[in-house]
Amino acid sequence: MANDRIVGVDLGTTNSLVAFMQGEGPVVIPGEDGLNLVPSVVALDERDQIIVGNAARKYLIETPERAVYSIKRLMGRGVEDIQDELKLFPFRLAEDLQAGEVLRIKLGAKTFTPPEISAFILRQLKRNAERFFNAPVTKAVITVPAYFNDAQRQATKDAGRIAGLEVLRLVNEPTAASLAYGLDKKQKGIVAVYDLGGGTFDISILRLHDGIFEVIATNGDTHLGGDDIDNLLIRIALDDILGDLGLDVSRNGEAVATIRKAVIEAKIALSSQPGTKLDIELLGGKRYQREITREQFEQLIQPIIDRTAGPSRQAMKDAALKPEQIDEVVLVGGSTRIPKVRELVEQMFQRTPHTDLNPDEVVALGAAVQAHILSGGSEATQDMLLLDVTPLSLGIEVAGGVTDKIILRNSTIPASATQHYTTQVDGQANVAIHVLQGERELAKDCRSLARFDLKGIPPMAAGMPRVEVKFLIDANGILHVTAREQRSGKEAEIEVQPSYGLTDEQVESMILESFDSAEEDFRQRQVIEARNETETILAALDKGKKSPAWGQLTSDEKKQIAKLEKALKLVKGESDYQAIRGAIDALNQGTMRLAELMMDSAVTTALKGKTMEQADRGEDVEAPHPVAKADFE
Ligand code: ADP
Ligand code: MG
Repeated sequence: MANDRIVGVDLGTTNSLVAFMQGEGPVVIPGEDGLNLVPSVVALDERDQIIVGNAARKYLIETPERAVYSIKRLMGRGVEDIQDELKLFPFRLAEDLQAGEVLRIKLGAKTFTPPEISAFILRQLKRNAERFFNAPVTKAVITVPAYFNDAQRQATKDAGRIAGLEVLRLVNEPTAASLAYGLDKKQKGIVAVYDLGGGTFDISILRLHDGIFEVIATNGDTHLGGDDIDNLLIRIALDDILGDLGLDVSRNGEAVATIRKAVIEAKIALSSQPGTKLDIELLGGKRYQREITREQFEQLIQPIIDRTAGPSRQAMKDAALKPEQIDEVVLVGGSTRIPKVRELVEQMFQRTPHTDLNPDEVVALGAAVQAHILSGGSEATQDMLLLDVTPLSLGIEVAGGVTDKIILRNSTIPASATQHYTTQVDGQANVAIHVLQGERELAKDCRSLARFDLKGIPPMAAGMPRVEVKFLIDANGILHVTAREQRSGKEAEIEVQPSYGLTDEQVESMILESFDSAEEDFRQRQVIEARNETETILAALDKGKKSPAWGQLTSDEKKQIAKLEKALKLVKGESDYQAIRGAIDALNQGTMRLAELMMDSAVTTALKGKTMEQADRGEDVEAPHPVAKADFE
């Protein structure tokens, strides 16, 4: 049963979380540090081990060339898409990248694709869940911003697979949030979900009826969130530092990272306090200090938060609704903790927003509800239908470089639609199908998703062939296209392999690599543990030699112990786990009588191998416990 547990994952730009359904309600699974949020930060430590989350954060400051954050911004994108990101984010791309290729990010001397980096985060969440359940977790529902296009969704699915998670469903984040709020229990109404996180802004309009809810419009901005506020505050601080202290630290990565940390703390403080103080220690003992009131802060960020108004209005327009027709507003994303943001939302929708659930947990909680539904769920949720919409129109290029839309944006998915086309030239045997995503009229202004040819059409006069093109968007928002010439029955099919997507082979090899490195990780851990154990045993033996029990051993026994001790010392520095293990076991065996004598005389509990730790913890101190019995596995 526990093996079938499906978890819900919010793979966020800034923070990621994993949740599951416990009894009646969803709960977030904390990490080992007890915190629910795992910062979406990945680093490679000095020994080329992957570090994720809070522990990885210090690398952002200390060795930024070994760390990466906001990787979600690069998911499913190409090098020509991300020039703006590169100005704001210290992503280090591999030098040998070709246009159209999947991006690779440098961490230290290694390079990783965005799905691989996301997979490290997912694997951490998976581990957290496995520790929590004490059972393997292999299935997940993962959320994505409503605005994610096909390539970005594919990349997210790939990340899941690389992490060893079967991604049963991708769910739009706003949809998940509305699930978390149990909106299905409403009889009917219109709900606006306003999600301002670290890196993305999403607005969704949902319609509820009879326990079913339907996303009727989505809009947003993939480049708007708390990061913009942080970057603004950093720029101001850098200007101040240059003006007041005459220091230009804008090119000093470490200094900028320190400033980033300080301004984020200040920003968070200002959500609950009327004022705060920035106090940043810079190079050469110089300090940057500045008081900042909430009022000043609000003035500064006004232009940023105002940028949420346009997409919000557009979504309402798409839904053909006026603000008065919105019944409820749900707040999602850490940045909606800012009182000014709440004010703006309230004004825009003329409603007091829901804030009962933690805005940075609500998406993961909803993902857990969706996971529960997929796993068969409970009576209550079983028949709850989840409907999503496609965020962008999909179509093909037709003569003259014009986009012909086949599925319109905001269509409920799964969706399918068919259009008919023909040839332009007499005897044309092949037709090129160029699949496009976007709202623009000209093909060159839309995103190119895929190209394929329908070949072998029998010779016919131009305009005679009847080419049927069918688009199907599955429940994950992923597109399948088929083209068929109806007179001849010739058919071509493509599961849209997006530009910048990984091929199946690439994903497979990444999965294999991750297994390899997981094995390697495990082996290294074993060796480290065995070395620690060695130190414990040798220390215990030293104590034993000083105890009265030592005098009771025969000289042969002492010689034998000395031999085993030497053997252990010889192998302990090596990375051969089996050799260390064998030497430890032999010494344990050889010192069994010494341990018994020590126990008998109740001199000390020290010579108990691993049980020294137990003695430290006050466990089991009195019980006779020969060294050989200590179980180190
Ligand atoms: P994402 O969905 O992008 O991963 P989250 O929903 O976790 O992001 O929100 C992260 C953003 O919220 C960050 O920019 C963070 O600084 C901001 N944030 C978190 N708590 C607060 C707060 N109390 N006040 C203002 N901003 C906050
Ligand atoms: Mg989020």
